[in-house]
Amino acid sequence: MLSINDLRASIEGKEILKGINLEVKPGEVHAIMGPNGSGKSTLASVLAGREEYEVTGGSVVFDGKNILDMAPEERAAEGIFLAFQYPVEIPGVTTINFLKTAVNEIRKYRGENPLDAAQFLKMVREKAKLVSMNDSLLKRALNEGFSGGEKKRNEIFQMAVLEPKLAILDETDSGLDIDALRIVAEGVNSLRSPERATVVVTHYQRLLDYIVPDYVHVLYKGRIVKSGPKELALELEEKGYDWIKAEVEAVG
Ligand code: ADP
Ligand code: MG
Ligand code: MG
Repeated sequence: MLSINDLRASIEGKEILKGINLEVKPGEVHAIMGPNGSGKSTLASVLAGREEYEVTGGSVVFDGKNILDMAPEERAAEGIFLAFQYPVEIPGVTTINFLKTAVNEIRKYRGENPLDAAQFLKMVREKAKLVSMNDSLLKRALNEGFSGGEKKRNEIFQMAVLEPKLAILDETDSGLDIDALRIVAEGVNSLRSPERATVVVTHYQRLLDYIVPDYVHVLYKGRIVKSGPKELALELEEKGYDWIKAEVEAVG
């Protein structure tokens, strides 16, 4: 489904991603961990197509298509969803209107008819129930005055509505309390299916107690330096990253 080959990317002339290789198959959940400043958020941003980053080499193939030439909106329409680290506030635009526009843009791209108001509402109600999203949040301006937990729930709700084939979640190392972690985990788990894949970027081993990944990768200095089964996350929790850094330095 997703095939990343020797991906290199820079920002302001500084190379951050130095040859990333990753294969994600349908149904899989991959966790990307690693010390601060390793390039985890850069990788998520490059996959989503954010313009600040310059891709200097390698390829990213999603469902057989090279996505590096696509705009972020096209990638979204192809089925890639990125939950942003800091979800934007859009004053005056309600969550529900924002989503209606997004859903119908995607349908248009795919050559499908737009949903009318009644169809859209029905779908949104089902999805809200699925991720325990309160109706009152839907009618408020997007993210405006939302608490941390509400933003997370809203993000997961957006993911449920957009039904991406590949969801990329970048969880910051600050501001997520245990309730917010649970919201994210329950949402991801309720959307797990054999056709869909998830890449979770996280500093929290604890999140992986709830979202059990199929694979764990450690990103360090712009490269994936170690991959393993879910137990690798436990090992990292216990031992930190120093042993991995030492292994990398020893190899040179
Ligand atoms: P992580 O998510 O693993 O903590 P990031 O991808 O955020 O790492 O950052 C990787 C490196 O890229 C860091 O050295 C960071 O300072 C640098 N970097 C990230 N974004 C920018 C930016 N907008 N301008 C300059 N440097 C950046
Ligand atoms: Mg960071
Ligand atoms: Mg980060």
